[in-house]
Amino acid sequence: MSVEHRLSEVRSRMAKAAAECNREPESISLVAVSKTFAAEDIRPVIAAGQRIFGENRVQEAQGKWPVLQAETTGLELHLIGPLQSNKAAEAVALFDVIETVDREKIARALAEENKRQKRPLRYYIQVNTGLEPQKAGIAPDDVSAFVRLCRDDLALTVEGLMCIPPVDENPGPHFALLAKLAAENGVERLSMGMSGDFETAIGFGATSVRVGSAIFGSR
Ligand SMILES: *Cc1c(COP(=O)(O)O)cnc(C)c1O
Repeated sequence: MSVEHRLSEVRSRMAKAAAECNREPESISLVAVSKTFAAEDIRPVIAAGQRIFGENRVQEAQGKWPVLQAETTGLELHLIGPLQSNKAAEAVALFDVIETVDREKIARALAEENKRQKRPLRYYIQVNTGLEPQKAGIAPDDVSAFVRLCRDDLALTVEGLMCIPPVDENPGPHFALLAKLAAENGVERLSMGMSGDFETAIGFGATSVRVGSAIFGSR
């Protein structure tokens, strides 16, 4: 099956899931996760009309996106993987949205780079809904204070919350918790759902889903 075909398949599954919960399909965006795939694998997806992409490593993204961005205007690049503060400058220079703001140190480094580079990016706070020790993210109880710090003290544009539920659990309760935290904190967007569970995430209010293997094939 071609990558164009898989992309349209994902889009129609998203539309069907939206219709099933009476949501507008246009209110849900698709972040095509292109990590590990090369520029030549990504080009057909851009040619098929996809404009929003996600990468999980700054260095890997630097190796392929500048050339793709030069070829096509209007691309939007999301960082969906962990960010070290010594990479903040490079991340702000390359990405449009950073979905993995997960601690004060990185929030401060990003705020500084936004000012220095005059590139005010949009941000998501990553929430560790399963309180997994090995996983990044703000604990649910600390989300309010952290959103306030980012917005009020650092003037970051906090557009949404993001989560990656524990692999071995039913994701529904995690998506529900993320939606509740967003509502309580006046945060509009929810980045949740991947190839295996994006329809479930749409049912719980996802405004964007991050889909890799269902589009690009297995990694
Ligand atoms: C890789 C990745 C995805 C996409 O996963 P698939 O199962 O391939 O759809 C989504 N979100 C994050 C944070 C990822 O690292």
